[in-house]
Amino acid sequence: MFLPAHPGCPDDVKGDGAACGSAVARLAKRVGSRAVTPERTCIACRGRAPQSELLRLVRRGDLVVDGTSPRLPGRGGYVHHGCLDLAGKRQSIRRNFGSGAVLDPSVGAPGGSSGDGGLR
Ligand SMILES: [Zn+2]
Repeated sequence: MFLPAHPGCPDDVKGDGAACGSAVARLAKRVGSRAVTPERTCIACRGRAPQSELLRLVRRGDLVVDGTSPRLPGRGGYVHHGCLDLAGKRQSIRRNFGSGAVLDPSVGAPGGSSGDGGLR
């Protein structure tokens, strides 16, 4: 491992931050030159992912519901589809939305809100 080059590196005669061949500089250039999908942080695992891959949660009253589509206004948070369980275990819902907030049980449930199946 070596330390990545920094902007203003003494060897950087061109002034573009790429004098050291640093991966960081190249990455910065690439990211800066193209439109990127906005990234959001999952409230459960704190991992970052493109917004389109995350579930948007919105607090409505005391209930935190799926506000992905249609996109609901209001205090929002993002979570991986697979992290809903984790969010509950880690109290991420309450931490992100405030005390009293409860995740709507139908969020992430197969079949959505149409019937509860009664399997369990
Ligand atoms: Zn996650």
